[in-house]
Amino acid sequence: MELRKRTCINYYEPDESSLDEYIYCDKCEDLVYDYCAVHGPLLVIPDNHVPAETGFPQYVPRAALTVPRVFLHLALSAIPDAGLGVFSTITLPQGVRFGPYVGRESTTVYSTYCWQLYNERRVRTKVVDAADPNYSNWMRYVNCSRHWREQNLVAYQYRGQIYYRTIKIIPPNTELLVFYGGQFARLLGVNLKHYNSVDHYPFQVTGMISFFYSYIFLHGLVVRGFI
Ligand SMILES: [Zn+2]
Repeated sequence: MELRKRTCINYYEPDESSLDEYIYCDKCEDLVYDYCAVHGPLLVIPDNHVPAETGFPQYVPRAALTVPRVFLHLALSAIPDAGLGVFSTITLPQGVRFGPYVGRESTTVYSTYCWQLYNERRVRTKVVDAADPNYSNWMRYVNCSRHWREQNLVAYQYRGQIYYRTIKIIPPNTELLVFYGGQFARLLGVNLKHYNSVDHYPFQVTGMISFFYSYIFLHGLVVRGFI
């Protein structure tokens, strides 16, 4: 089983450097080394610091306490049967970086909380597994989008770790949703044929559509090979 594969981005293959050190600038619509000299670095929002002794009862997992509280909160997901989800507390701009995704490193996928990491030759190296809520952070609670129009985060690998970044303006009290990759989405019942379609969207749509079209076509949010 291979889960939460990093979103397949249609990279231009630079020869000399590791892709792991490139990020994608949504405004330039291109990969840039480390950060975009024109549009600046991503706005980094760190986790809430949690001391070794949290002071909370044991049934409050450590991961839940790491939510960056001014910006985000946990609440019941809008997706049926998905449990908890992560919601914006205030408006988040495009280009916010969250992470890294925290978990135990492993070479085997034991849970549905795994992201696959790759080396510079795109060979799978290890997975980071956030199954244990006491050895992970709030990012484990971000649910999988069911359609590209509700997706507002992308996951990407940067310097050996997984980060999420906002790809659109996220209004307050909106659930953060990232695409987990084809195989895991399928396990969740996300219809991959419909994921990128225009027609099969059961939810209210709010703007940014043309942007997403170009993003998908140019940069492979379509998970090729699964559809
Ligand atoms: Zn740029």
